Amino acid sequence: MQIISGTAVAEKVLEECRREIAELAALGRKPGLAVVLVGDDPASRAYVRSKDKKCRDLGLHSVKLELPATTTQEELLAHVHALNNDPAIHGILVQSPPPKHIDEAAIVRAIDPAKDVDGFHPVNVAKLALEDPTGFVPCTPLGCQRLLIEAGIETSGAHAVVVGRSMIVGKPMALLLMAKGKGGDATVTVTHSRTRDLAAITRTADIIIAAIGRPHFIKAEHVKEGAVVIDVGINRVDDPTTDKGYKLVGDVAYDEVAPKCRAITPVPGGVGPMTIAMLMANTIKACKQAERR
Ligand code: NAP
Repeated sequence: MQIISGTAVAEKVLEECRREIAELAALGRKPGLAVVLVGDDPASRAYVRSKDKKCRDLGLHSVKLELPATTTQEELLAHVHALNNDPAIHGILVQSPPPKHIDEAAIVRAIDPAKDVDGFHPVNVAKLALEDPTGFVPCTPLGCQRLLIEAGIETSGAHAVVVGRSMIVGKPMALLLMAKGKGGDATVTVTHSRTRDLAAITRTADIIIAAIGRPHFIKAEHVKEGAVVIDVGINRVDDPTTDKGYKLVGDVAYDEVAPKCRAITPVPGGVGPMTIAMLMANTIKACKQAERR
């Protein structure tokens, strides 16, 4: 059984990023990422902080906008428009979820698609479906695909079952796996909460992508011998033995599933580090494409 280390693959991606940043620096260019946070949700704040830190570590230009929870839709839109027009900024993301009074879809649509490094703008969703390489693909599924490639998992002709159909993970993951070429060409089944007899379907999978948001949901009975399992889930569960009083676990019951697998990602140290690495890679891509516009 192979444990696919997201930490190691993410480091490889970041090394590529460092090389590209140095090449751009030689041309007098510096990729810039703006991360906008509205409100004070502690998990979102931690994500924003780690994105900002990763940018700075790599030598990217980083702008962190922390706005109060009372920020109006119009004020937020004004910030997005200003960032759209800022030539030093190549990537913009608004941390999800915003407070309830904000129309998140409208904010996403306001981001210039050429700076939408999260890949959530309708133009980029369409580009993914069209297999247009100039589009931006959401970082988490892009990271999952890279993990499969780096682990030497053949996706061509494989039956991949994606559990979850969100716009952030499940749907773009399915599109990536069914696209033509490396890390694609799979036969894809997408499942969700209305799927009948989920285990019967996942047991036919060569590759399972679990993106459900329920701790330890995928059990040994869901997995056939020799399957590859990518666990996207990040769930907080109470754990009084830790300082914080909780720990992070995946959507897969790792201890019972791993022995059946050909390969599996752990949580933490699997998909998580890939997401931020792909965000850096997308920001560099946006900078390079901005040069050509
Ligand atoms: P989401 O928007 O809540 O979507 C969850 C999906 O799971 C939905 O499509 C839902 O079906 C499906 N689902 C729920 N219960 C199910 C069941 N009993 N059987 C089958 N399918 C079921 O969540 P998400 O944003 O995709 O995130 C999924 C997980 O990945 C979460 O744990 C999240 O924290 C994690 N995540 C991790 C990263 C990372 O960087 N590693 C990034 C993003 C997300 P319906 O559509 O029918 O409701």
